[in-house]
Amino acid sequence: MPIFCFFCAVGLNYISCNLCGTKMSGVVTRLKYHLARLSAYDADVMPCMVSSAEVIQKAHEAIAEQDRKKAARERPMVSDR
Ligand SMILES: [Zn+2]
Repeated sequence: MPIFCFFCAVGLNYISCNLCGTKMSGVVTRLKYHLARLSAYDADVMPCMVSSAEVIQKAHEAIAEQDRKKAARERPMVSDR
């Protein structure tokens, strides 16, 4: 199940966690941190108290994937050699 099955949009500016019902403003990234219980990454994130080990694992993978894409995007062209 993709990670975004675990939350849904509430209006334009909020998303809520389907597992614990926590509502938070902002971006999907923040909810990944919520599910992964990585509140240290973002001071505004409340860790999810009910996410299972499987969900935590998926959230970690989603964050790692996102970091890889970000690193690829930010890498300067000249640094390849
Ligand atoms: Zn939650």
